[in-house]
Amino acid sequence: MRITCVGGGPAGLYFAVLAKLADPSREITVLERNPAGVTYGWGVVFWDDLLDDLFRYDPVSARRIWDAACKWDEYEVRVTGKPDSHLGGYGYSMGRHKLLEILGERARELGVEVRYSDELTDPAALPPADLVVACDGAGSRIRDEHAGHFGATVETGRNKYIWLGTPHVFRTFRFGFERTEAGWIWFHAYPFSDTASTFIVECTPETWTGLGLDELDSKAGNARLEEIFAKHLDGHPLDDAGRGWLNFRRVTAERWDHGNLVLMGDAAHTTHFAIGSGTKLAMQDAMALADAIVGLAEEPLPAALEQYEHRRKAALAPLQRAALASSEWFERMPEYAELPATRFSYALSNRREDFPAWRYLLHVSTQSTVPRTMLRWTLSARRWNRARRRPVTAAVP
Ligand SMILES: Cc1cc2nc3c(=O)[nH]c(=O)nc-3n(C[C@H](O)[C@H](O)[C@H](O)COP(=O)(O)OP(=O)(O)OC[C@H]3O[C@@H](n4cnc5c(N)ncnc54)[C@H](O)[C@@H]3O)c2cc1C
Repeated sequence: MRITCVGGGPAGLYFAVLAKLADPSREITVLERNPAGVTYGWGVVFWDDLLDDLFRYDPVSARRIWDAACKWDEYEVRVTGKPDSHLGGYGYSMGRHKLLEILGERARELGVEVRYSDELTDPAALPPADLVVACDGAGSRIRDEHAGHFGATVETGRNKYIWLGTPHVFRTFRFGFERTEAGWIWFHAYPFSDTASTFIVECTPETWTGLGLDELDSKAGNARLEEIFAKHLDGHPLDDAGRGWLNFRRVTAERWDHGNLVLMGDAAHTTHFAIGSGTKLAMQDAMALADAIVGLAEEPLPAALEQYEHRRKAALAPLQRAALASSEWFERMPEYAELPATRFSYALSNRREDFPAWRYLLHVSTQSTVPRTMLRWTLSARRWNRARRRPVTAAVP
């Protein structure tokens, strides 16, 4: 079987790994327009659910991801004029570069042909293949080429955001909200290596223009943000890696397959970055597609692709609702700004407004050091236990 993946992001590379593992006789090619080692963005977060899946599907790459991941506990919420507050939880993060390096290496060692600096400009010029996977990201050219068939819609979020990195290493995940003369502006930051953190800044379009960010070039814009967030950055710079300010694009598609062509990852669906799940969902798509084509000897390709689409659409629905609620909360953020610190951070964590009442009581009590430390120990034990249960025993954090 010949498979071509267009796009060497997490979806394309991970699918190539799994499809090759399942059947080494498959001829699999990944076309990636960027040179090896070049990508957009900074670190991404993920949680135990993804790690469990990764260890189940390919313990070798999972182990490498686990070893390279940064582990953090708790969320800090810092708002101008309010005492700091805390949210329980823990998670993992790693640089997109590192993730793609691990997946690219794993794919190549299994015999996948990964062609970097190879941009597909004309879908009609695709090499012959039994299956073509369009995993070319949110702006998918292949999807747009068949726009009528896939029924894709792209809705543009109201807020402006910019994905930055900084050499300042945050202790843990931090949400920081600053009041400026033009309105509220905030960031989500977390460490993703020993030397760098992700720093995503977001604000309403009114604040963006009010601060003059629409007119500043990248250097001056970063300098303005460094000034606004000075107390969080400890004198360290911000780097935007050239992508600039964007509006989030929410992609949905009515159909994901078309003959021997199938959409995967951001090409099929996006979820707002505030819930940090796009990479996870892209890799879980890869798992589901790899599972679906195992049965090809017994059933035709269209049936396998249908099965993949149904499984993933069902799994995605709750996360898409959470992501939408989350992005809408941030669009309304100024309405919450006058709440006291503990109520504000609770509203931030309960963006879908579906927490049971006891969660608020727990939240209030864990603003004090002793209950918070106890919660952290409990969650560390949970993390340890989960790591122990994985097929290749992961080193305990
Ligand atoms: C600000 C921000 C923060 C985020 N944070 C997180 C996070 O914390 N956690 C998380 O899980 N997710 C996060 N995400 C989402 C995540 O980045 C994406 O969901 C994920 O990268 C999707 O993977 P993908 O492989 O489908 O697409 P992509 O990662 O976009 O990969 C697509 C690849 O296709 C290549 N390509 C495109 N067109 C062509 C072509 N014509 N020919 C050849 N190659 C092509 C591109 O160069 C790219 O390498 C974030 C997103 C944003 C915007």
